[in-house]
This record gives sequence, C-alpha cells and structure tokens, in this order.
Amino acid sequence: MIISGKDIAAQLRSDMQQQVEAMAAEYGRTPCLVVIQVGNDPASTIYVRNKMRAAEFCHIRSQHLLLPDSISEQDLCAHIAELNADNDVDGILVQLPLPQHIDEEHVIRAILAEKDVDGFHPANAAHLWLHQPLVKSHVASIYNPVPDYGCTIPCTPKGILSLLASTGVELDGKRAVVVGRSDIVGKPMAKLLMDRQCTVTVAHSHTRDLPAVCREADILIVAVGKPKLITKDCIKPGALVIDVGINRLPDGTLSGDVDFAECKDIAGFITPVPGGVGPMTVTMLMQNTIDCFRRRMLQGKE
Ligand code: NDP
Repeated sequence: MIISGKDIAAQLRSDMQQQVEAMAAEYGRTPCLVVIQVGNDPASTIYVRNKMRAAEFCHIRSQHLLLPDSISEQDLCAHIAELNADNDVDGILVQLPLPQHIDEEHVIRAILAEKDVDGFHPANAAHLWLHQPLVKSHVASIYNPVPDYGCTIPCTPKGILSLLASTGVELDGKRAVVVGRSDIVGKPMAKLLMDRQCTVTVAHSHTRDLPAVCREADILIVAVGKPKLITKDCIKPGALVIDVGINRLPDGTLSGDVDFAECKDIAGFITPVPGGVGPMTVTMLMQNTIDCFRRRMLQGKE
C-alpha cells in the first residue's frame, strides 16, 4: 500500500488553518515565522518559496528575509538577535546550506531555542535525547504523532511519525532500522522510534552487509541521499518502508533512496518520492511554528 504524504499533509494543513484561527481569537494575533535566506541558491529559493506558500495556506504570518551571500557571520547573527528580541516573531528558520565562510553551527546556536522551528538548536536536540515522555499514555495519530516533549522536534522525523501513525501499524516491540545518522533525520528518528518502544538499529556508511541489516526491519526508514540504494533484497515482506531521500537523476527526474518499482510489491506500506516525506516536512514546519507560538503565549512571552 502506498502512503500518500501529499494527501496526509493536505489534511494536516487544513486542520492547522483552524488551529491558527482559534489562536487568533484567543490571543489576538496569529503565529509569525521568519525565514532567512542567504544568497540566491536556486534550490534554497524553491524550498523557501514552498515554506512561504505553506505558511500562507495555514494563515501563519511569514516574512522572507533575503540577505546577500557576502554577509558576514557577525552581521547574520545580528539580524537573528533582532528577531530573537522581537516579541511578534515566534519562529526563526535559517535556510541551509549557508555560504562556506559562515559557520552553520554558530548560526543555529544564535537562534533562541524557543524560536528554533527546525529543532536543530543544541538545547532542543539535548531535550529530545534526555526527555522520556510517557508514550504509553499517548495515542498517536497523524494530528498528534509525538507525545509532548516540551521542545521542538525536527520536522522530517516528526512528519514520518505522522506517516507511520496513518498506517495504523502498532510500533511497540517492532524492529526498526534507520539508515543514515544525520543530526536532522537519522539520529532524532532513532530516538523517537525508541520512545515508541521499537528496537532500533542505526545503519550508516560503515555498516557491513546493509541488505541483511535492512531485512531485519519491520519498519525501515532510509535517509541517505543515494538513489535506489535500497533494492528488493533489503526488504522484509510486509515491512513498512519510509523513503526520505531526494535525488535528482541525470534525466532531471527525482528518485528516492529506495528502488520504489522493485520494492513496492514486497513492502506492506511504502512512501513514494516525490509525494511522500517531502510534503510532510514542510507541514511539520508549520506545526512547529504553531507550537512555538502556543508555548510562548502560555509562558506570557508575547
Ligand atoms: P546526510 O548526508 O547528512 O547523511 C547521510 C547519511 O547516510 C550518513 O549518516 C551516511 O553515513 C549515510 N550513508 C551514506 N552512504 C551510505 C551507504 N552506502 N550505506 C548506508 N549509509 C550510508 O543526509 P541527510 O540526512 O541530511 O539527508 C539524507 C537524504 O534525505 C538526502 O537525499 C536529502 O536530500 C533527503 N532529505 C529529505 C528531506 C525531506 O523532507 N524529504 C529532509 C531532509 C533530507 P556516515 O554517517 O557514515 O557518513
């Protein structure tokens, strides 16, 4: 069965419109997201445009701050400091990658953790790893995929939990394999699955016999960036397969990290590329903005 991230994302965004309208009535204003882009990288321009459109659809106020790629790290951080201090701004996102002369880690740390809608700030990452929410009392649904960690969870793994919840498959006790160990996808995904009582293996470029490791998986999440790395000999029959990869092929088409044509009849559930994880990531950015706004309102920081 194919999991349509596109359809689930559309459902979630309609729900968010209502959440935002209710918040406007309660708090007298709507959430505000600022997206900072440095330079004119074409891929970044497309990603930023998609984010602005999603915000508009969800009735979230948004601002696109386009800065020259010659900007110094210090000046970029000064812009961030201004936004940190602006009570009308609830979420700040810096579109990555940044020009080489700017240290991404410094920039991410410059964002106030409570306005870090990407969930990349070390305070948010640490909170995710150290916090053990009461998963047993939390019924996952596409609308509420993660229990309350009290911090921002990175968008892609959070969106994947919604996709998993949409299948109705019970995660408790399942074997999960996450291929890829990046800070933005693989590592937080592994922690979230552990908290959902999965037994998790994290594979990477040094993993021996990757197909054998993947065949153990009831739930296989692949975030590598290598087209069609995962072939049918990597799939346990009936497994739930989530393909995070986005790879541009020489003919201009997009491919995931999973060979979809080969694997779709063996997997129990599988996400396509495009139309799987991608739309969910942008959608979760909107949810994270709403959640940052809500937390700030509850703390009286408006
Ligand atoms: P990174 O490049 O940061 O990490 C890639 C990971 O894959 C690393 O851990 C690396 O291992 C591992 N890896 C590389 N080669 C192999 C191999 N042959 N076998 C097993 N593991 C391997 O990537 P990201 O996590 O940022 O992104 C991964 C993919 O997901 C990309 O295609 C990206 O475009 C896409 N993506 C899609 C999103 C969406 O919304 N759909 C969001 C974010 C990313 P090691 O650590 O040993 O180097």
